[in-house]
Amino acid sequence: MYRFSEVVGQETVVGYLQSALRTGSLSHACILTGDPGSGKKMLARTTAAALLCENLQTAEDGTCEPCGQCLSCLQMESGSHPDVQVLEREKPTSIGVGEIRRIRSDLQVLPYRGSHKVVIIPDAQLMTAQAQNALLKTLEEPPAYAVLLLLSEGTENFLPTVLSRCITLGLRPVTETAVEQILVRRGIAPEQARVCARFSGGSVGKALQLAENEESAGARDRAVELLRQIEKADASSVIEMAGSLNTPEETAAFLDLLDIWYRDVLVLKSTGDPDRLIFTGELQYIKDAADTLSYGTLQRISNARAAAGRRLKARVNTELVLELLLLQIRQACRRDRRAGS
Ligand SMILES: [Zn+2]
Repeated sequence: MYRFSEVVGQETVVGYLQSALRTGSLSHACILTGDPGSGKKMLARTTAAALLCENLQTAEDGTCEPCGQCLSCLQMESGSHPDVQVLEREKPTSIGVGEIRRIRSDLQVLPYRGSHKVVIIPDAQLMTAQAQNALLKTLEEPPAYAVLLLLSEGTENFLPTVLSRCITLGLRPVTETAVEQILVRRGIAPEQARVCARFSGGSVGKALQLAENEESAGARDRAVELLRQIEKADASSVIEMAGSLNTPEETAAFLDLLDIWYRDVLVLKSTGDPDRLIFTGELQYIKDAADTLSYGTLQRISNARAAAGRRLKARVNTELVLELLLLQIRQACRRDRRAGS
């Protein structure tokens, strides 16, 4: 069910939309900006549901919600509302003028049921300049019933003429704690929730994906397994780890994990406070590393990690970069281990 109360951490934008819906003053064109997973689509659909609801529920505090029971709400729920169109782009990397022209001609037709017609354009930043110019005509003289919701990560790619005719509403990254709480509410174990929330950079969508994806959970466990005692790892398990990361997303997730692992080691070494750790369940290993590794070694690991990032950006072979990084870390850890024994 679409409810504004389900949209987490976006009080300002939600408050604005609710007040505009209540007073019937919603702009014909809004750009919702925010990171992937920040809830743009959910918010756009909820706005459409509220706009079209036949029995909008208004509370005394001024908040409003779609009723969830009228025919319009039910059609919204099943994704079959005749007056709501979500643009499905033809090409992965751009939205062309043809797609926008089809929206334009569709908007010429009166709403099928209600008082409004809503068009949602995900990844609207992918509109070509030509497509934006085509859209501009609608923005200049929108039919009274038309509402366009453009979803985008930022506003950089929009023409100034388009921007000037839209209201831009920026979604904030949801704080990690809020994401963590959402995951725990959905039955995900607290430590996993904490790690996934940290990885997600405040994106509920990404965190849920991480938490619910068995495959990424498996990859995470393998990586943690390796990092626990990397000084004891043989070359073949290092090579195997580096070779098992097949996509840029997997590589990025692995590097995130590595960053958090050594961040935890450094935090424990410098503060001695286990409550500040993210990998709370790995305390034994983190503590062992914090006791063994010198600050100089942790700095060397951090330098190696930064160099790996630069090489990946320069498109050096991913597997080789990761192998080198892991071998450098292993070497650094072995040195301190020997020095300590
Ligand atoms: Zn309704």
